[in-house]
Amino acid sequence: MNVKEKTAVVVGAGIAGASICLSLKERNIKTILIDSDSGPAKHASGNPIGVVYPFLTKHKTAESEFSLAAFQYFLSIWEKFHLKDLVPHVDGIYYLMDTKETYDRYSHSIISHQIPNHIAKESVEPFSNSPALFFPEGKSVSPVDLTKQILILANPRIEYSCKLLTWEESKQNSKLQILCKTSNEEIHCDYLFLSQGYQFTEDVHLNWVPLKKVRGQILQIPEQKPTNKYGILFGDYITPPIAGYQVLGATFDEFKLEQESRPEESELMWKTLLQKLPELTSKWEPQNPRLFSTRVSYRTQSQDRSPIVGKLPNISKIDLSIKYQNALRSGEKEMKIPYYESVGILNGLGSRGLTHSLYSAEILVSSILGEPNLLPEKISKSLRPDRFLLRMWKRDQLT
Ligand SMILES: Cc1cc2nc3c(=O)[nH]c(=O)nc-3n(C[C@H](O)[C@H](O)[C@H](O)COP(=O)(O)OP(=O)(O)OC[C@H]3O[C@@H](n4cnc5c(N)ncnc54)[C@H](O)[C@@H]3O)c2cc1C
Repeated sequence: MNVKEKTAVVVGAGIAGASICLSLKERNIKTILIDSDSGPAKHASGNPIGVVYPFLTKHKTAESEFSLAAFQYFLSIWEKFHLKDLVPHVDGIYYLMDTKETYDRYSHSIISHQIPNHIAKESVEPFSNSPALFFPEGKSVSPVDLTKQILILANPRIEYSCKLLTWEESKQNSKLQILCKTSNEEIHCDYLFLSQGYQFTEDVHLNWVPLKKVRGQILQIPEQKPTNKYGILFGDYITPPIAGYQVLGATFDEFKLEQESRPEESELMWKTLLQKLPELTSKWEPQNPRLFSTRVSYRTQSQDRSPIVGKLPNISKIDLSIKYQNALRSGEKEMKIPYYESVGILNGLGSRGLTHSLYSAEILVSSILGEPNLLPEKISKSLRPDRFLLRMWKRDQLT
């Protein structure tokens, strides 16, 4: 197959869509990126500053191994494309281990994952005097600028204010293609990549995928003096200043999703910050946190909190006959999953899209193109969308 003659459509110009475009560019595939909004990174990827560091567990799990590999992949792309010269950022993240449980978990994680010092080491965070994991190459970074830079590198044809309305498989000159109907035009393509974030519900092919919209509020505060040189995570996070502002984030609410800011949440986050980092904040001028500017946006989180990365199952074609179901129940047969062979999904990045998107995109593109598997089966399985199907069938959620 000569992939150079192939065309891909990518839906969504957030960090996920931009990352997919970069992986396609590396393979010389002609790419069209569409987004219903007027520019890139207007939704979850639109916060002024976010933090990049890996998620770790006490013992190795598929989730922690993926996250660590994704963080290392992020650093390799950062290096390869000289992003440090292009994206506003500050190096260095402290993760406070200020309870018995966090200390137990994170101090062991370094040993169990054999993490080298340049990735993470035990340390003491000076403002809290608390034990901490320090990630020297962890980053506070502007997600908007990161997304824009990745798009400059990937250089796809971009259509903003162009919404994907529907898509279907179609035969063109006896070749299987995907027909995308957008608000502007119809596009035939060889591959379709779906990264619509929380707006996935508008796609009828995705309404079975167990994803949830989760509200998050952050505060953008003017640079405080004295300031913290590194990002500090203490449940919430305070970033160092970038372009005169620091970010205090982020709330998490999966039940009430209003767009309006909640002043009481701002106040609570501020209070927690003062309690956790007194050595830093006691030197600041008294402030009214209700007056700081806020931003509300929405994560998309999967049922098991891992990202959803892989070929999209075609659930309308799953055999649900009584005979087949009985064979499944008795263990006589394994569930056979039909797929849209050329359609991939990257979603459910939750609270870690900045760290995980570049690696997820690389895994996705390589699997859709049928390249050799990059990952151990345990990790690959923990990411693929089909991981939910057997569970859903057992709970009668597919019949
Ligand atoms: C408050 C908050 C704080 C966070 N902090 C961090 C952090 O510090 N570190 C970290 O790693 N992660 C953080 N995250 C998570 C991270 O921001 C997200 O995981 C990531 O931005 C998700 O990117 P995305 O591209 O999947 O989604 P989005 O950025 O939402 O992009 C989806 C895009 O799809 C477009 N779209 C949707 N439907 C259609 C359609 N039908 N046709 C065309 N276009 C469409 C939308 O317009 C949008 O541009 C945070 C998230 C929140 C909400």
